[in-house]
This record gives sequence, C-alpha cells and structure tokens, in this order.
Amino acid sequence: MATIQWAGTPNYSTDRAGKKIMAIVDHITAGSYPGCLNWLQNPQARASAHYLITKAGQIFQLVKDEDTAWHAGIVNKPNWSLYDGTNPNKCTIGIEHEGQPGDVFTEAQYQATLWLHKELIRKWGVPVDNDHIIGHYRLDSVNRSNCPGSGFPWERLFSDLKGSVAVDEGILIFGPDDFVSANRLAVTLGNEVAIFVRKSDGTPPTAIKTAKHLYVVGGSEVNHPNQTLLAGANWFATVAAVGKKLGY
Ligand SMILES: [Zn+2]
Repeated sequence: MATIQWAGTPNYSTDRAGKKIMAIVDHITAGSYPGCLNWLQNPQARASAHYLITKAGQIFQLVKDEDTAWHAGIVNKPNWSLYDGTNPNKCTIGIEHEGQPGDVFTEAQYQATLWLHKELIRKWGVPVDNDHIIGHYRLDSVNRSNCPGSGFPWERLFSDLKGSVAVDEGILIFGPDDFVSANRLAVTLGNEVAIFVRKSDGTPPTAIKTAKHLYVVGGSEVNHPNQTLLAGANWFATVAAVGKKLGY
C-alpha cells in the first residue's frame, strides 16, 4: 500500500468557501522532482496542488483535501460540462505528476496515482467518469492543452478504476435492522452490489456516489442522481417496501 508524505506549502486558501469536492483534476509538472516540489512550496509560484506524485511513485501532499489548492489557474475556453463559471479550485482536488507532457508513466508512478485516485474517490464520493476525473486542459484548452499531456494513461486509469471502485447497484441502509432486507435485495440483484450504512446522524456516506443506481432502504431520499426509495415511516413499512420490490 502506498503512503502519503506530508510536504505542505504556503500556497493555498483555507477551506473551500462552502463548495463540496466533486472532481479530480490531473496535471503534469513539466519539471523534475525535487525542483517541482520546491516550486510548489515557493510563495512566488502562487501555485500548488493537493498532491504531487513522482516518477519513483512517492506521493507528497501539499494541501489538505479540505482546503483549496491553487492548481486550476485561469479558466480559458473550458470543455467541462460541470463548469459553472466559478473558481474550479473550490470544488476540485488537484494532482500533479512529475514529468514532461508526453512522458510515459513509470509503473511505480502509475500504481501510485491509481491508488490515490481510488482513495479520493472513496473518501469524497467522486463518480468515476470523464466529467469528474479530468485533465487540466479541460479547464484551459488554450494555454494548458498539454496538461497532463498525451502520455497520461487515461484509458488504463479509467479501466482500472471502473473495475475496482464503481458498482452497478448500491444499497443504503439506515441501521442494523435493515440488514436482512438489504441482504435479500443484494442476493436478488446479483454480483455488482455494495451495501452502505448511514452514519449515526442519519446522513449517507459520500461513497454512495460510486454506485450507478442506489436503493435507499430505510430513511428518506438522499443526494444521488439515480435512486429508488424502498422505505416507510418505520421499520415494518421499510420491510414491506423491500418485500414488495422482491415480489413477496
Ligand atoms: Zn496543469
């Protein structure tokens, strides 16, 4: 398992001005380690990223996920359907990769970035698609058209992420009482199923977004684009709703 080494930088903004993390932006440094790390830590750069991954596969963290790194730069002729005109730094996590545009990743660098993407997807509920995992060139197609460049392993990365992270069906349960219902539902649905449990305050874990479709068993509707509510006002009503779905 990879490890993250804290490096820090003065180049960041505290918190995210109320925005939620929704996407990952991948970059190439166009410079070598350790010079590129030193530059991202230099106040004169006025630039940073949350993470830097070296060719040797080291992962440095410069900015906490909860804070805003300065990696997106100036938005110029963007090609990103989620762009709403506001500063993309506020809602994204930036990952820098050591190398020149066009460089083929070393296997160590590829495995490190795959691992980090998985961690961030799980932690922040980032959907695995090309609107939520993007290259810098999508934000600035004019001056950053080479970031992260033609060597970036998009196809392999998406293939590996989809094979290991996303599931077709998710089942969100309210608590242990719902588990039998959820289990029956899971067996009926088939292979690609994950069961998520609400936190003690009733809110769902962000990882529910990694499911393409979500059954909500117990509790009210949640923030998910494709959900089916199988719940009633109490436990009996929830069991009945699931039973109806299963044809009992
Ligand atoms: Zn970039």
